[in-house]
Amino acid sequence: MEEKVEVLILGSGPAGYTAAIYAGRAGLKPVMYQGGQPGGQLTITNDVENYPGYPDGIQGPEMMEQLRKQAERFGLDNRYGMATSVDFSFPLGHKVTIDENKVIEAKAVIIATGASAKWLGLESEQRLNGMGVSACAVCDGFFYRGQEVVVVGAGDTACEEAHYLSKLCTKVTILVRRDEFRASTIMQNRVLNTPNIEVLFNTSTLEVLGTDEVVGVKVINNLTKEESTIKVTGFFVAIGHKPNTGIFKEWLDLDETGYINAEKGTSKTNIEGVFASGDAMDKVYRQAVTAAGTGCMAALDAERYLAAHE
Ligand code: NDP
Repeated sequence: MEEKVEVLILGSGPAGYTAAIYAGRAGLKPVMYQGGQPGGQLTITNDVENYPGYPDGIQGPEMMEQLRKQAERFGLDNRYGMATSVDFSFPLGHKVTIDENKVIEAKAVIIATGASAKWLGLESEQRLNGMGVSACAVCDGFFYRGQEVVVVGAGDTACEEAHYLSKLCTKVTILVRRDEFRASTIMQNRVLNTPNIEVLFNTSTLEVLGTDEVVGVKVINNLTKEESTIKVTGFFVAIGHKPNTGIFKEWLDLDETGYINAEKGTSKTNIEGVFASGDAMDKVYRQAVTAAGTGCMAALDAERYLAAHE
């Protein structure tokens, strides 16, 4: 079964829906497949207070619902389903297989498949997600102002998140599993020179404590095997993100961590007619508003591309 469409959008976060709004208003009759997490990462966030235009904040799921309605108002054909493979070998007729059985042939493809935060994999971490456990300090840090929190990780993201949280929280403890950071020297120094950040090296998390809110973290010193408890109300996991780009790796130019390399200042990939947006191509900013911005860019680039090939 094969269906032909003008513009196919993969993913339903802020990037995908913004691309859909622009493509829909340009009369391109976009078709979207929502992917494995309809609405994207914002659906697992509570309050969104940093998206411009919502002076009182908005719940993540509600914001995604509004974006969905806005895109559908301009004719988005919105479908459940997950892209499982692609064949970008045909110019002006890229083939995308949905749920391993339906093939869509699209003149332009907009990738908005996002990224997923990596987690430690503890049962308690999963159970308390959104109730004190978070993977985004910029999203959720504000709710912990005046409190004590833990950040897990040793890369640039962990250092950046810890530094961000140190301005809001009375104390931030970073748990580093080895005896050194992976982060760049400048980021490490920023953390080490901040008085209310404490770094515990050789320390891993055994359990996040609490029933319906975080009350502490049970940790182990990996050298001495000594276990201890840290009293905190927030547990921030910053051990990296994984872009959802596995199905594109044969075709698209990706960086060493799997993010799509787009031509500087555009959404263009190395394949004509395939455009990248949102967290699948952005490992630095990763915000809803920046994802929306690149979704807009992808739709405008797709529109120009289609006009040039008419
Ligand atoms: P990284 O992959 O660089 O670091 C992940 C960190 O998490 C590592 O230190 C790793 O420890 C640790 N980790 C992984 N799994 C576990 C676990 N199960 N338990 C405890 N710790 C764990 O990811 P980042 O998100 O920090 O950075 C991604 C990329 O983005 C990097 O290239 C970074 O430089 C860049 N970036 C740049 C920024 C900037 O310049 N301002 C800001 C943010 C990111 P270990 O070291 O032991 O493997």
